[in-house]
Amino acid sequence: MNLESAKQAEQQLLLQTYDRYPIYFREGKGVTLVDDQGKEYIDFLSGIGVNALGYGHPAITKVIAEQAAKMIHVSNLFYTEFQSTLARKLTQLSGLDRAFFCNSGTEAMECAFKLARLNGSENAKIGGTPRWKVLSMENAFHGRTFGAVSATWTEKYRAPFAPLVPGFDFVKFNDVADLHEKFDDSVAAIVIEVIQGEGGIYFVAPEFLKAARELTAESGAVLIIDEIQSGLGRTGKWFTYQYYDVKPDIVTLAKPLAAGLPLGCVLIAEKTAAAMHPGLHGTTFGGGPLACATALKFLEVIESDGLLAHVNEVGDYFKEKLSALKSAQDCITDVRGRGLMVGLSIDSEEIAKDAHAAMLQRGFLINRTHGTTLRFLPPYIITTAHVDAMVTALGEVLSEVREKHLLHMAGGQHG
Ligand SMILES: *Cc1c(COP(=O)(O)O)cnc(C)c1O
Repeated sequence: MNLESAKQAEQQLLLQTYDRYPIYFREGKGVTLVDDQGKEYIDFLSGIGVNALGYGHPAITKVIAEQAAKMIHVSNLFYTEFQSTLARKLTQLSGLDRAFFCNSGTEAMECAFKLARLNGSENAKIGGTPRWKVLSMENAFHGRTFGAVSATWTEKYRAPFAPLVPGFDFVKFNDVADLHEKFDDSVAAIVIEVIQGEGGIYFVAPEFLKAARELTAESGAVLIIDEIQSGLGRTGKWFTYQYYDVKPDIVTLAKPLAAGLPLGCVLIAEKTAAAMHPGLHGTTFGGGPLACATALKFLEVIESDGLLAHVNEVGDYFKEKLSALKSAQDCITDVRGRGLMVGLSIDSEEIAKDAHAAMLQRGFLINRTHGTTLRFLPPYIITTAHVDAMVTALGEVLSEVREKHLLHMAGGQHG
């Protein structure tokens, strides 16, 4: 099998959900991936924020092999070793009280929304108003299942599947007045990404998050923070909300949690968790021994290798380098992010597109989101030397691409 045969076979056999880049990967080691031609790529994407320890990490490989030999799955009908150990670790790190394990980000969002509605209907039972609405943010991304896509802003992800789940509405991101206007006693939850990831790396404003916290606390609605992309060390703290002075009721996690194995998690404050009873929610695969043992090892490696400090250090260096590049390149309009969740805006979608393609050509995996944003989510083990190589290449690529576009425009005028 190679790129051409895989392309042909997939064209015929797979549900056509992806427009893949023309690269066929065989294996990886550290922060380097190798394609079918033997060409090497430095990874600044981590499988969209998943492979935080890169590829073939010895501690992860070992725990997977050992646990797979013992027991991969047994069902949530029984007790096993790792769910409570992992829950203890994650509740200690987050300051929340309980955990529910599932298999993906979108599933974590479904559980969060169900918990919000459950609390809303419990409120009605004790004589309060039934709360059921969910306020999400313009530009938000929360996943692809019906609940999560109902909370997702992008029209092309939503429109063909209408009608979506009723009761979801959108607030202008960081617009406190709009939040106050849309919040009433039918609202069960406000859901926020502290940094919008797919939306192009945009931070929530402290005063907006504070307003959301106050409105929900006063009314008994819940504040859900989606840390699926920004959590677990990506921005240099365990959770990005820990940069703000708020404590959410629910936090959702997934992407890097089990170092590449599918695992999602919902962390919940005791008072929000109390409404849940056996039989109301569940999953076949979620929180299996293999994924949970691997997640524990992942968290252990972050601590033992001092990776939060490393993410901060390399992240600061990365942003400095990109800011210097911005001074040298007119087409870069903005550099933003924290730790190793970084975005760079280009003033033209055409340039962003060509620059992205040229970077892949040169062996650097980066991502383009929202047309004009180049997004970087490298593994936490990336070094300043990798950053230097990538930023140098990006500078050269932007110069080349801009020159080509200028020539093209000049040619167009004369022709
Ligand atoms: C990726 C992502 C999701 C969805 O996670 P899946 O595992 O793809 O279902 C939800 N929210 C955010 C912020 C994400 O980045």
